[in-house]
Amino acid sequence: MIRAALAAAAQRLAEVSDTPRLDAELLMAHALDVSRDDLLLRRLDDPAPQAFEALVARRLAHEPVAYITGTRAFWTIDLRVGPGALVPRPDSETLIEAAIDWFGERAPASILDLGTGPGTLLLAALDQWPGATGLGIDRSEAALGYARANAERLGMADRAAFRLGDWGAGLDRRFDLILANPPYIGTDETLPEDVRRYEPASALFAGPDGLDDYRRILPDLRRLLAPGGTAIVEIGWSQAETVSAIARNSGLAPMVYEDLGGRPRAIRLT
Ligand code: GLN
Repeated sequence: MIRAALAAAAQRLAEVSDTPRLDAELLMAHALDVSRDDLLLRRLDDPAPQAFEALVARRLAHEPVAYITGTRAFWTIDLRVGPGALVPRPDSETLIEAAIDWFGERAPASILDLGTGPGTLLLAALDQWPGATGLGIDRSEAALGYARANAERLGMADRAAFRLGDWGAGLDRRFDLILANPPYIGTDETLPEDVRRYEPASALFAGPDGLDDYRRILPDLRRLLAPGGTAIVEIGWSQAETVSAIARNSGLAPMVYEDLGGRPRAIRLT
């Protein structure tokens, strides 16, 4: 029975995951091709599907759930993801909240997402502001493949453009809202096995102190920001001071936002 299979799997998955029960439910819903809600409300007394064991085995080998199921929920949207694209994290929703905090009743007309990956921040922002258009930049063609497919699936292909690029280099127009979740892990920092083994290093690591990409992105932001606009960058929880200093040196005023765990996670720059 599914109920028992979930309990048993959750117990085994505790070895590799901080969220074993959730992982088991997402994998089971994927095996059944139903939503998690449907699984929990309607299917718990059904027989467990054959395919479930193999999915659990992959997770036990540290593969991220989102790569196994091929999808991850973020803000108000579901994104397709897989190898080569950083898995969207709930922490990054802090950037959307900070943007809403800035614009209030207003709405940005143009949005730039630097290091868009599978389109995470850009497509969430376009869902938040249905009148906006946006551009997502990434240096990974693989990531952009997911991003374009996600825009198509979400019916946003006419509002979202994606381009291979190197941060703001070559852009010659201004944007009302600039979002960026750059790599910010120090080269020698340890990461959980699932992140280190499966997710793209180019989306994670940024030099010895993890600050290399802020040093490249922030000095360019004043040039790219439209009047009344704002830029919001994700940071590691210990980087609020150092990134704020880089911002001030770039002529920007920083304001720190915390994630749901109460740790510094985003800096709004004006
Ligand atoms: N938040 C991610 C992690 O800790 C890192 C993402 C990033 O470097 N931008 O795994």
